[in-house]
Amino acid sequence: MATTTTPAPQSNAPHFPEQVTGMYILARALKNIGIQNVYGLVGIPITEAGYLIQGQGIRFVGFRHEQQAGMAAATEGYLTKKPGVLMTVSSLGFMNGLTATANATVNCYPMIQISGASDPTMVDMNMGTYEQLDQFNTAKPLVKAAFRCSKAEDIPSAVARAYRAAVSGRPGGVYIDMTTPALGQVMNREDAEKLFYEPVDLYSPVIPNSQSVDRAVEILTSAKRPAILLGKGAAYAQVDDKIKQLVEKYNIPYLPMSMAKGLMPDDGPLSALSCRSTIMEKSDVVMVIGARLNWMLSFGRGKWNPDMKFIQLDVDPEEMDVNVPIAAPVVGDMGLALDAILAKLDGAKMSADPTWVPALQAESKEKNAKFAARIDAAKTAMPMTHWAALSAVKPIIEANPDVILVNEGANTLDDTRDAVNMSLPRHRVDCATWAIMGMGMGSMIGAAVATGKSVVAIEGDSAFGFSGMDFSTACRFKLPVTVVIFNNGGIYNGVGVPMDKTTDPAPTTLDIHARYDKLGDAFGAQTYYVQTPEELSKALTESIASKKPCLIDVQLAADSGKESGHIGYLNPAPLQDITV
Ligand code: ADP
Ligand code: MG
Repeated sequence: MATTTTPAPQSNAPHFPEQVTGMYILARALKNIGIQNVYGLVGIPITEAGYLIQGQGIRFVGFRHEQQAGMAAATEGYLTKKPGVLMTVSSLGFMNGLTATANATVNCYPMIQISGASDPTMVDMNMGTYEQLDQFNTAKPLVKAAFRCSKAEDIPSAVARAYRAAVSGRPGGVYIDMTTPALGQVMNREDAEKLFYEPVDLYSPVIPNSQSVDRAVEILTSAKRPAILLGKGAAYAQVDDKIKQLVEKYNIPYLPMSMAKGLMPDDGPLSALSCRSTIMEKSDVVMVIGARLNWMLSFGRGKWNPDMKFIQLDVDPEEMDVNVPIAAPVVGDMGLALDAILAKLDGAKMSADPTWVPALQAESKEKNAKFAARIDAAKTAMPMTHWAALSAVKPIIEANPDVILVNEGANTLDDTRDAVNMSLPRHRVDCATWAIMGMGMGSMIGAAVATGKSVVAIEGDSAFGFSGMDFSTACRFKLPVTVVIFNNGGIYNGVGVPMDKTTDPAPTTLDIHARYDKLGDAFGAQTYYVQTPEELSKALTESIASKKPCLIDVQLAADSGKESGHIGYLNPAPLQDITV
């Protein structure tokens, strides 16, 4: 830890000790703990803090909307295993950012939201102070941990504890209420320096108990039709080699959840990506690694083999038995759990049915051929459909595996996820567990800033609308990002028919003739408007190569796309059947 000493006075002139504010202490505390980037939007009472953070050599990425800054921080957390930091102003800024912090908590991404806040003694007395809101208690139910700093002396410890809380156990969002009395407090520099300390073991991985490992190995080795289900928790944990070893050495097919795509190659010989239903219905043992048996997996019931034995590796004991009993819970850090399982397996003989893997491979081959034919046949559709556009996008993204793919929308999400194979871990970021729209620009910026890699965001036109203004942030920071907007003129599609008695557009209708490329022009981006797969191919190839902010407006047919996704029970009435 660096300390500075006040130089001795040179003359007999009176000596006033150098003073610093709580804002400086905050900036120093962030620097001390290794934060490299802060995402935020300044204003009262954090503007000077933004400058002081920059002064510490931390990158301050200033956004147009706090929600997007928060999505960027969360994405940095997911990709790096270190908490991303969001800074917001009080009241509305805090609330806008809290959406992203809550989303990070749900998705198990480590992040810290630090918000300027009114004097709590005035808030508690309901005195109508500037931007009065009980932010601390508003945030509390939506985050993993919450702290309030009322004194500058508490700031370094709050930052260290928030860091620990964000990354330990199940990662999540942490809130620090940074009140104006703490931010504005003045201290002698000499006293302030004494507050900083090096926290020991900011992340302490927990070892699973050995009985749980024995049980899991016993069930796995006696399985006839085993499979591994990979979730984004497995990708997050950065245990890629251990998973590869488990899959390859023991010949176990794997099925990735959307953000685990690429952890093992989607087109690898043991990939069961195209055999999701078969895995659910026919496997007898599924090892769930860093995934939750939630709505995305039909809660582990219904279609799933009722005699299935689930082995589940998760850091959070509360995840066990949530929707279905878990035969072998292995609770602990993913890396240590896999180490223990691999050590116990130690080359053990598996009992798998020798026809299981070949049958899955044959099914994959047949389905992949059908899928390829479908994309091929779509190439000539004019105006383009989603599939026509993807016929151009797919080969380019697959040929640039190191590009991070951000993806949101309805059909744009479903079809891109299905069409584009990933071959590297943590190269796909999407709207994740809440399946929300409005993470695109933030996640794209966070991914580019945190990794220095090129990012392509494939966005539905509705999805882009939530965060589009923050494309200007990507331009201001000259990031190597490309936004591809699939414009079918609406939510699901652009052919909604309004109800009688109104001349207003239908609730699902947006702007089929919008020229989104002109938004990019306003901020000096390289832009394209494309109507054919050939034009899209050329535009995307040039954009990735340019390493500059680019925006491609892809004109689709208004009738391309349907009410998504694959969850009929949540969309009971098809739109065309709605009656009053
Ligand atoms: P997906 O949506 O891809 O299925 P989820 O977000 O539902 O993934 O599940 C991720 C799971 O991974 C969570 O239950 C979380 O507790 C777990 N997890 C996250 N990090 C770790 C880790 N380091 N070790 C073990 N489990 C982890
Ligand atoms: Mg999940």
